[in-house]
Amino acid sequence: MSLLAHITSRIATQGPMRIDEYMTTCLLHPTLGYYTTRDPLGTEGDFTTAPEISQMFGELLGLCLAQTWISQGAPASFTLAELGPGRGTLMADVLRACKAVPGFVEAAEIVLVEASPALRNVQAQTLNAYDVAWADTLDRLAPQPLFLVANEFFDALPIRQFLREGTQWRERQVGLTGDALAFGLAPAQPQPALDPLHGDAADGTLVEVCAAAAPIIAGVGAHIEANGGAAVIIDYGDWGGTGDTLQAVRAHQKVSPLATPGAADLTAHVDFRALAAAAGTAHAALTPQGVFLEQLGITPRAQSLAKHLSGQPLQSHVAAHRRLTHPQEMGNLFKVLALHQSGSAVPPGVAT
Ligand code: SAH
Repeated sequence: MSLLAHITSRIATQGPMRIDEYMTTCLLHPTLGYYTTRDPLGTEGDFTTAPEISQMFGELLGLCLAQTWISQGAPASFTLAELGPGRGTLMADVLRACKAVPGFVEAAEIVLVEASPALRNVQAQTLNAYDVAWADTLDRLAPQPLFLVANEFFDALPIRQFLREGTQWRERQVGLTGDALAFGLAPAQPQPALDPLHGDAADGTLVEVCAAAAPIIAGVGAHIEANGGAAVIIDYGDWGGTGDTLQAVRAHQKVSPLATPGAADLTAHVDFRALAAAAGTAHAALTPQGVFLEQLGITPRAQSLAKHLSGQPLQSHVAAHRRLTHPQEMGNLFKVLALHQSGSAVPPGVAT
């Protein structure tokens, strides 16, 4: 059975699906889901990410974590965790760069939180030189500092969408028009959880809520507050905001989120204000990715790597630097949220 047939029959028998159920089914259905069945990254795949564009991204992120580790007294044992590690490229680049920092790699207990068996296999190959543990959640962390990275993880978590009609809320959902999937709206229902932030929203406003993110980030924040460490979260999105940001990407092209369930990546913008509020720990000002990488020294690093390159590899390297940092490419769309223990130094690279 195809995933489209599965979703169609589920809607035909039980009625329309909320957007969060649709996203979870498309991305993580055990046998037909997008992430569970494939490695979607890179030029051959559907989309690419910063660590796949250039090694500089992971290297600089690694040095940011290592500097923070040093400023917290270089604890002799800590958890180095990543949420949604994709191919393991970012973690490999972090660890390679941090070999230059005495004691860091030896003190790190690496934990990867990954839902996809297919991607766990790729990560095992990429990181075969290291001792790595996989986990489904971060619920059972050792009581020691936590240094965590997450790049393009929170955008993959399922969202719900609510449309303001007058003073009421109607939830957007996926139903059927004939045999075809179609967006529709549930009858109006009170949504008291939306009122604190969106109680005065104008008619026609669409609000997105990512309920799955809150417990994850609350766990990370509580652990850092109690044990030390820091978290660097990078994604596309903004501080608050409204509007429909659900999008599907297949073979590097935007497609309709309903067109090919299970065969396209589905994401939504991350609301960093909601993440920071749920974390309950100290955080730096939300910083554009381009600014973050410049402040960590991407330009001298790029120049030093360029000395060994010529021809096409040099052109690709220059293009990758631009793509990661330029405001009209990923530099502004992607943002960095750094969480740290109250009273401890802010990680380098972010705006204070
Ligand atoms: N961080 C990587 C990959 C981003 S793609 C990079 O920058 O290249 C999103 C990643 O999150 C994939 O590894 C995907 O399998 C994983 N993922 C998505 N939803 C998840 C969930 N609910 N729990 C754990 N991992 C998840």
